[in-house]
Amino acid sequence: MTDFEGLVAVVTGGASGIGLATAELLASRGATVAVLDLKPDNLPGELTGFRADVSSNDEVVAAIDTVVNRFGRIDVVVNNAGIGAQGDVSANDDDEWHRVLDINVVGMARVSRAALPHLRKSPSAAIINTCSIAAWAGLQARALYSASKGAVLSLTLAMATDHLADHIRVNCVCPGTADTPWVGRLLDTASDPEAERAALAARQPMGRLVSADEVANAIVYLASPLSASTTGTALAVDGGMYGLRPRGPVQK
Ligand code: NAD
Repeated sequence: MTDFEGLVAVVTGGASGIGLATAELLASRGATVAVLDLKPDNLPGELTGFRADVSSNDEVVAAIDTVVNRFGRIDVVVNNAGIGAQGDVSANDDDEWHRVLDINVVGMARVSRAALPHLRKSPSAAIINTCSIAAWAGLQARALYSASKGAVLSLTLAMATDHLADHIRVNCVCPGTADTPWVGRLLDTASDPEAERAALAARQPMGRLVSADEVANAIVYLASPLSASTTGTALAVDGGMYGLRPRGPVQK
């Protein structure tokens, strides 16, 4: 498919995991792809990296300007950069609360704000935010992270409404636990990584982790000009975790 031919996409956090899979899929479908990341190194040849920390407004504005100077337009923004946080509501101090919300929530606002004037000129503008099952389900020991993703869900709905008149569609994806370098790092800190991986897989009704490619496919579906009537939605990619309650492990 070449549904993104002639379009320019910006993917934040596009150097790893879900963002990298999304950037590669967008490029394979014809998009010119700009990856904004802290370390946009070792990217495949079809992707162009731009260094930007989404917690810095100056860096975001400079990177968006550079993308437009280089490629002439922006049609798609994938707000995907994010970080994790563990523990209950008392586990993190104010500085850490501000840091995580600044990257996971305000970062999306910064990138969207900088890109809006360019998106308004696009014939098929779309913003896709990477949210999480944590916005919907009460996950244990994820208070701060869940608060950040709950905000992403609400922000997505508010932005979708605000930008109806601009013809900019705004949607989000809600992945379950996905097999990315992030989760690999999390497992490395567990006392028994194999048991922890098995517990995370068992939490999802399908009994396995989601793949980065599966989340990328959902993001690209929402970003595509072919999805022109879809806005204000949250698409679960979670092995059934949001709505399904099988009685015990599922066997064939
Ligand atoms: P990852 O760690 O593999 O990739 C994240 C990327 O974001 C990295 O390349 C990193 O350098 C970049 N990044 C981090 N902070 C940044 C900043 N301040 N500015 C710019 N770039 C920054 O993680 P992933 O698992 O691919 O996660 C991507 C997104 O998916 C995150 O928003 C995360 O919350 C969300 N998510 C992940 C899972 C999961 O289980 N992996 C589940 C639900 C949602």
